[in-house]
Amino acid sequence: MPFEVAALDLRGRVVRLGSAIDQILERHAYPAPVAKLLGEAVVLTVMLGSALKIDGRLILQTQSDGPVRMLVVDFMAPDKVRACARFDKNRVAAAVAAGKSAGGDMLGAGHLAMTIDQGSDMNRYQGLVALNGGGLEEAAHEYFLRSEQIPTRVRLAVAEELRAGNGSGASHRWRAGGILLQFLPKAPERARVADLDPGDAPEGVPPHEIPEDDAWVEGRALIDTVEDVELIDPALSSERLVYRLFHERGVRVFRGADVRAECSCSRDNVEAMLKSFSQDDRDHMVENGEISVTCEFCSANYKFAPDEVGANQAAKA
Ligand SMILES: [Zn+2]
Repeated sequence: MPFEVAALDLRGRVVRLGSAIDQILERHAYPAPVAKLLGEAVVLTVMLGSALKIDGRLILQTQSDGPVRMLVVDFMAPDKVRACARFDKNRVAAAVAAGKSAGGDMLGAGHLAMTIDQGSDMNRYQGLVALNGGGLEEAAHEYFLRSEQIPTRVRLAVAEELRAGNGSGASHRWRAGGILLQFLPKAPERARVADLDPGDAPEGVPPHEIPEDDAWVEGRALIDTVEDVELIDPALSSERLVYRLFHERGVRVFRGADVRAECSCSRDNVEAMLKSFSQDDRDHMVENGEISVTCEFCSANYKFAPDEVGANQAAKA
């Protein structure tokens, strides 16, 4: 749900995910810190992807040296999202045992890439930011500062909701949410941020002495008061949340959109992919007389007889 606080030149978006995030995380059954981190990445991707044109696509991908080696979130506008993670099980368990299961600890050092594809008539755009032990919120701030030069704050939250069970004990459900706030004044010189890299500051002016615009200072302070529970509580609507934050300044909300967990894989796609491999590669994929391919995003399994895709059944015993 997009919103605007005109008096402060602020715009933003609230994302709340219930069944969509539960379907994605439940299907993967990753360890909790990995699920939580992937959930945050999904919220961030939906937050940015929902501003795209109708046939746009946004792919967020991390690659780093922490226990979670890779996160991929693929948002297909207007409403489809899929996501998966690659991680080292033993390192995740060790990090949890050592009390280091925050997003930044899980990611370690590496980079985060944001690829935006707005359809065939426009160029693909890729923004890259370094990951240095911080979490995804920090990476998002860095991304907006470096790639788009817009003062931005992002809050992300993911949690498991416990629900009373029907005889067989309590069950869990994942919920996720987030809020994005951006400062977009008409006069661009107002959009300065205090934590700019020293190299970006005008000559002779130490960066910490550049005062931020009062409107942005106020907006930022308000966003910093948002608690995780406010982002995921199903009883608190997005409208109520932004009203709670900005009612003194006047806030306008726009129509929100639904998001679904849906994968774009299909038997035809997998078949075409297999046919693009060399004969030798295909022959090596035959196991127990068939080729089995599992989609990493949605765990759908596709089985092919070797001759369906041109493999030689006898190649591998
Ligand atoms: Zn799939």
